[in-house]
Order: sequence, then C-alpha cells, then structure tokens
Amino acid sequence: MGPLEKRYVLAVLEARRLAMGPYGQRFEARMADLCGTRHAIAVSSGTAALHLMVRTLDLPPGAAVLTTPFSFVATANVLLYEGLHPRFVDIEPRSYNLDVSRLDAALTPAVRALLAVDVFGMPADWPALTTFAERHGLRLLDDACEGLGAAIGGKRLGCWGEAAAFGFYPNKQITTGEGGCITTDDDMLALRYRSMRNHGRANDYHMEHVRLGYNYRMDELSAAVGCAQLERLPELAARRAQVAEAYATALSSLAEDLILPAAKPGVQHQWFVYVVRLADHFAPGARDLLMERLREHGIQSAPYFPCIHLQPYYRERFGYRPGDFPVAEAVSASTLALPFFPGLTEADVHRVAEALTVLLPSLPRTPYRVFAPS
Ligand SMILES: *Cc1c(COP(=O)(O)O)cnc(C)c1O
Repeated sequence: MGPLEKRYVLAVLEARRLAMGPYGQRFEARMADLCGTRHAIAVSSGTAALHLMVRTLDLPPGAAVLTTPFSFVATANVLLYEGLHPRFVDIEPRSYNLDVSRLDAALTPAVRALLAVDVFGMPADWPALTTFAERHGLRLLDDACEGLGAAIGGKRLGCWGEAAAFGFYPNKQITTGEGGCITTDDDMLALRYRSMRNHGRANDYHMEHVRLGYNYRMDELSAAVGCAQLERLPELAARRAQVAEAYATALSSLAEDLILPAAKPGVQHQWFVYVVRLADHFAPGARDLLMERLREHGIQSAPYFPCIHLQPYYRERFGYRPGDFPVAEAVSASTLALPFFPGLTEADVHRVAEALTVLLPSLPRTPYRVFAPS
C-alpha cells in the first residue's frame, strides 16, 4: 500500500459514496482495458467470480466439468455449489497446468465444460484447450485468479474462454483486500453477471429482481484500492520479476537438487509465487523436513498446493485416494513456496538461498537411486 491507495480511499470517505460508485466503474474500465475484453465485472472475491461463471453455464445437476486437482480449493468448490461434478485431470509436470494430452481420456457423456487454471501465474495451454473445447462442444472457463497480466503470444488472460475470473486477495498480483473480477467479451453473459452480483436486479438501481442473485458486489473502498493498484501494476510486476530473477541467480548453483520455475517460449508469465520443487532423488517427506528446518532458520515457506482431491472433504465425499492423480500428487509433495512479495530485498533472497545451500545436503535421499559416475 502506498500514497496513491491512501489518496483514493480518503477520496471515497470524503465523497461518502461507499458502494456502486465511480471507483467501481473506473476499476472495471481499467480491468477491461488491461485484459483486452469488452466487459469487466468487479465482484467481492475470486470465488464469487468463479461461482457466477459456473452458475451461468446453466448445466443440469450431475453434469461434469473437467478441471485440475492442482489448484486452490475454490476452483472445485464452485462446481459443488452448483451440484456439478469436478472431473479431475492430471497435470503436466513442468508447468503444473492441466495436461492437455490427458483430456481425451477423461471425456464422458456427462462432461459439458472445462475449467482450467493458470497455476502460479503461468498461463495454461489456452490455444490447445480452446481447440479441444470447440471440438467437443464444451463451454470453457478460465480461473485466472493467479495470472493477472499474463499472456500467450500477446493475448492476455481474461480473453481466453467465454469468461475469466481474477482474485484480489492480498497475496495476488494486485489486491483490493478482498475482491475479484470477471472479464468477458460476451454481452449477454456480462449482463447476467452484473445482475447476479447485485441480487438479480434487472437494473442496478431498481428493486425489480428478475433472477436468483447474490450480494457479490465490490465496495467503493476496495475498488479505490484496486484503482491505485492497477495504476501501479507495472511497478509491482517489475518488482516481483526482479525478486524472481534474484532467486534464479542465487539458487542456480543448487540446480541438481532444486527445480526452479520454468519459462515458456511465447508465454508472458506474471509472477504470483516463487515455487521450487525438490528433485526426484530426495526421499518422501524431505520437503516437509526442509520446511521445518527453514522455519528454525526463521524463514517461512508453504506447501503449495495440497491436491484438492486429497482434501478431507473431497476424500470423504468422493472416495478419492492417494494414487488417483500421481503427477499432481508427486508435484504437490515436493514443491514449496519461498518468501515472495514486491518488498523482498536482495539480502532476504540471499538469506533464503544460504539456508537452502546448508539444508539441502542434509535431507534424506531415496536409497535405491543409482548415480551414474561423473
Ligand atoms: C486465490 C484463488 C482463488 C480464490 O480467490 P478468493 O479471492 O480468495 O476467493 C481461486 N482460484 C485460485 C487458483 C486462486 O489462487
């Protein structure tokens, strides 16, 4: 938060219009500009954005939606809100995004839509997903909550699929405290999203309710913070990229043991988190041990993500077990998010790298691994 955020928030307090006002409209216009879409509809969270997008699929209860088990739990929860069945498809081990080559095998007559995620700000393979969805007549949605500003071949996230969801929780590329946004080029969908976020009103300022709606509005204070953050996005993104660059340099000598986030040609990645993966020669449990040791060094890290299908609620309800999605599970068990935010200093990065340099050799390795003589 900087002086611009303060100025805009104070302007809201002084103007005393706290909801449905000019900052909300300005925020939406800037989001549409940034993403290159006809419409942007600001809402109260990324989850609210996803929920409205899924509800507007108008699918019958029991219909299935292809999605990834390697995401934040909200991606699948929004399907359950609408009585839909998440049909998980395993991920690709380098980008951590949906493995497009596995989609065909996951198709059943019940599958009617595809909800892909841009994991850690790395765009999913949208050209391939688009072709697949068109070929099989599936509706296509983007959970872009971690990917604001990312693009493929210059085409921004937000305009892939029929609609995209963004989230503005404090850990995202920009924040509004709590908040989210839907972007779409479809006029009819935009109209329905606007109505559904505002109690199903036919017109934002009248008391006629033509459909089942929700209160998913974004308030003016949040929108004011969002306007300032969007103006500062180039600066914030550049800082994140600098921190990522510093990590890449500081960790380059650990390449045997640590798999660093990959770049992809033609893809403009937006840094969301800095997640590293332990190489396969470490024993199961090494990642958790590393996290514990880092904590003893005063360095926070997080397991990111735990698989959705192995969350207690999903296991209990659907009977999922370890082994169901082996790639996602292996990635999930060996990845950890290092401290990462625009204010992280070069010295902080070096402290983390030094701790990792000391700790990695002490981690247990798989005993059966045969090393080629060097
Ligand atoms: C953050 C996030 C969400 C949810 O956003 P909220 O604003 O916290 O509701 C959904 N999906 C993904 C992939 C996210 O990272």
